[in-house]
Amino acid sequence: MLHKNIRVGESPIAGLGLFAVRPIAKGETVWTGPTQEATFSAAVVARWSVSKRKSFFFYAYQTAGDQWTGPESGRPSDHSLYMNHSCEPNSWFTGDLRLEACRDIKAGEEVTYDYETSESVSLQSDPMICNCHAALCRSLLDGRAFQTPAFQNRYRKHMLNYLERAATTKEDGSERTVLNPEATCPTKEIGTERPGAGNI
Ligand SMILES: [Zn+2]
Repeated sequence: MLHKNIRVGESPIAGLGLFAVRPIAKGETVWTGPTQEATFSAAVVARWSVSKRKSFFFYAYQTAGDQWTGPESGRPSDHSLYMNHSCEPNSWFTGDLRLEACRDIKAGEEVTYDYETSESVSLQSDPMICNCHAALCRSLLDGRAFQTPAFQNRYRKHMLNYLERAATTKEDGSERTVLNPEATCPTKEIGTERPGAGNI
C-alpha cells in the first residue's frame, strides 16, 4: 500500500512513476507490502515466452534469491510497481515490506528507491541503463552493486534481507566487516519535475 499522498504520473526518469502530491516527511512510510501481485520462481518464469518475461520483469521486483513479484499480465494492478529507480533515491527499505522516506520529499517530487537494494539476478541477465540524472548515477545497473563495499556501507540495513545477508556474509560464512555502520541517505534532490511535465 502506498502513502496516501502518492500518485502515478509521467516520469522524467522512465515511463510512469510515482509522485508526492503533498510533502512527505523523512521517516514516513512510503509503502508497505506485500503488493497485490503474485510471486513466481525463476523456474516458472523461464517457461514463459521472451515477450512475456520482458514485460513481467519491466514491473516485477525481486523479493528473494529465486523469487519475483509482479504482474503476469505485464500490466500492474498494484500502483506501487510503478516506482522508478534512482541512484540517489529519496526512500529506502526498512525490512522487506516497508519503504520509508530517507529524507524530506517535496510536493511534486518523484518518489524513488534504488533497484539494486532489491534486485540481483534479473539485472545480471538483463542490465538496465540508468536515466536517473543523479550526480552519483552508476549508469548501468547490473545487479552486482551489493557486492561492493561502497554500496554495502551506503545501504547497510536498507537492502532486502536476502541481499543484506549476501552483502554482509563472506564465502566462509563469517560476517563481512562494514566500514560505516550508519547508512547515509542521499541528499541531492532529483526528479522534481511535476507529473505531466514530459520527458527530458
Ligand atoms: Zn542512476
